[in-house]
Amino acid sequence: MFDTSGEPVLNAKGRQVHARQVLVQKLNKKWAQVKVPGCGWVKFRNTRPGLPDAKSFRVTYRAGKWHVAFAVIPDPVDAPGNGETVGIDRGVAITAALSDGRVLNCPHLSVKERAKLRKPQRRASRTGKGSLLCKAEHTEAARLKAKEANRCKDWCEKTSTMLARSFDTIRFEKLHIKHMTRSARGTVDEPGKQVSQKTGLNRAILAQGWGLLRQRTEDKAPGRVEDVPTAYTSLRCSDCHWIDKNSRKSQARFVCSNCGFTCNADLNASNNVAAGQGGNSRPRHSAGAGGMTRRSLRVSVNPSNAISP
Ligand SMILES: [Zn+2]
Repeated sequence: MFDTSGEPVLNAKGRQVHARQVLVQKLNKKWAQVKVPGCGWVKFRNTRPGLPDAKSFRVTYRAGKWHVAFAVIPDPVDAPGNGETVGIDRGVAITAALSDGRVLNCPHLSVKERAKLRKPQRRASRTGKGSLLCKAEHTEAARLKAKEANRCKDWCEKTSTMLARSFDTIRFEKLHIKHMTRSARGTVDEPGKQVSQKTGLNRAILAQGWGLLRQRTEDKAPGRVEDVPTAYTSLRCSDCHWIDKNSRKSQARFVCSNCGFTCNADLNASNNVAAGQGGNSRPRHSAGAGGMTRRSLRVSVNPSNAISP
């Protein structure tokens, strides 16, 4: 956000201005100015100590506010050198479960704020489409949504810095967020099932900032971030490596059907990620996703197929 002496020219698509040449001047402790092409000197609130040493900057207009962002490549965070490895299991109920037992949650809008957000959305639906009033209501809604996005971003920045500072190796499970958030709508001939439920889940997944957390951690700790394949991370016992879908008693509870190891399900998964286990092909002795009964069933039905212990 900044005071303008004539608004910057924006392109039609992204409503933003890029500039390759950076001319910045300090005005006082809080304010500085930058030369925007086609517009002249523009004052902006400097939120960082010192002037930005950037090669380019971008001016954007988002949710009723002007922003100027300088492209500065930050120095990577030094590894702590303690040899510690952390596994991170990302989920919807818990944003990030760490293998050291910590549970981190990305902040969202409160119930009160959500109710506040619905008001302008409702009002906008009653106004004429494209009218000035409609636009104003949408701006108000966008302002509140931007608040949530900003909180999520802030959380991702703080969490990734914390991870880069406190661990030598950071392991994430490999997620295909794009595949996971595919719509369930289907085609006209074959409409999908539970489309609105899937839409809600997709929204919840995208609101967690999974991708951003992984990306920012990599930026701050280059070469120290590893991806672990996801298969069976949530079904494998982190103690005896037994895989059984019956071990996952509920969303939060994990009780191993083989050794009785009891643990929070997310913590168990993050332990598997930390150990780098997940994608190893299913061991022969595991009960598999079908459950333990399968093995004994197969033995009785067809003895030639029995798996030797
Ligand atoms: Zn076990």
